[in-house]
Amino acid sequence: MRIQCVHAHPDDFEFVAAGTFSRFHLEKNATGLATICTDGAAGHHIHSREVTARIRRTEQEQALAMGSIGCEWLRLPDGNIPCEGCIDVGRLFLASLWKSIRQFQPNYLFCPPLPEDSLAGIHVDHVAVAEGVRKVAYLINVPHAFTREYPELENKEAQSCPTPVILQTHDSYSAGANGFDLAIDVEDQFDLIARMSWAHQSQIVEWLPWVGRHRMQPPSTLSDWEQMLRQRFLRRNREMGVTSPRIHEFFTVTAWGELPTMDQLLLDFPGIATEWSQLSVLEKRLIRWRAD
Ligand SMILES: [Zn+2]
Repeated sequence: MRIQCVHAHPDDFEFVAAGTFSRFHLEKNATGLATICTDGAAGHHIHSREVTARIRRTEQEQALAMGSIGCEWLRLPDGNIPCEGCIDVGRLFLASLWKSIRQFQPNYLFCPPLPEDSLAGIHVDHVAVAEGVRKVAYLINVPHAFTREYPELENKEAQSCPTPVILQTHDSYSAGANGFDLAIDVEDQFDLIARMSWAHQSQIVEWLPWVGRHRMQPPSTLSDWEQMLRQRFLRRNREMGVTSPRIHEFFTVTAWGELPTMDQLLLDFPGIATEWSQLSVLEKRLIRWRAD
C-alpha cells in the first residue's frame, strides 16, 4: 500500500498525519510520502527568505526520516517550488500535483480540508492545496492532461493511474469548521510525533511563539515541548468532541477521488477508534455516493 500526504508547508504533516502514517508503515507495511507544496521561505522573522527556506528544508527532511516517510518538494514545470503565500491554483500547480500523484500512485491521498463555513479562518496555502487536489483529482487518470507542461511525457505510452481515495486532514487554522469521519488512535506514536515536530526548531522555538497565532511560549527542551504538544492535541480532541486522554488524528473521506467501501476502509486503516469515529454516518454517505 502507498499513502501520500500533500500539504502546504514544512511542519504541517507532523501536526495532522504523522502518527497515522507511522501506524500504516508499522502495521500495514505501507510506504508513505509527504509532498510539501511551498518552499517555506516566508516563515521566519529574523532570517532572510533564502536562509529560512534552507533551514526549513533540512528540518523537514530530518523529521520525515525519523518516521520513515519519504519527502518530496513539489516542483512546478519550470523546476521551482511554489512560494509560500503565493500558490496560484492554475494550470502549472495542477500540472505539478498531477505529476506527483501519478508518479507515486497512492492508494490513499491526504490533503488539507476546504472549510465550508465562511466564518472559519483559513491559511491561504492550505486552502490552495485543498483546492488544487480537488481540481486535479479527476485528471489523475488522464495521461495526457498536462503533457504540454511536461513534454517529456508526451510520447510515452499512456499509463493508467488508479485514482486514490482522497481524505481531508484536520486544520488548526479552521477552528470550529473541522469535522471528521475517522479518528485514528495515535497515542503510541506520540513520542515519535513529538520528536518529529521538535525537529522543526525554527518553527516551534522561534517562529510560532513570535507570530503569536498559537498562544505559545517557546519550549526550551524536548520534554517541555512534549507537554505543550500533548495539551495542543488534547485541545484538538475537545474540539472534535473526543473526551479520551489518548491522542487522535482526524480524517474526512471525500468523493473527490475513488469512492471506497466501508469494508475496504476498515481493512486498510490501522487504529480506527470505533468509539469516536462517525462510522455509521460515513457508511450512509458512502452508500449514497456509490449508489450501492
Ligand atoms: Zn501550514
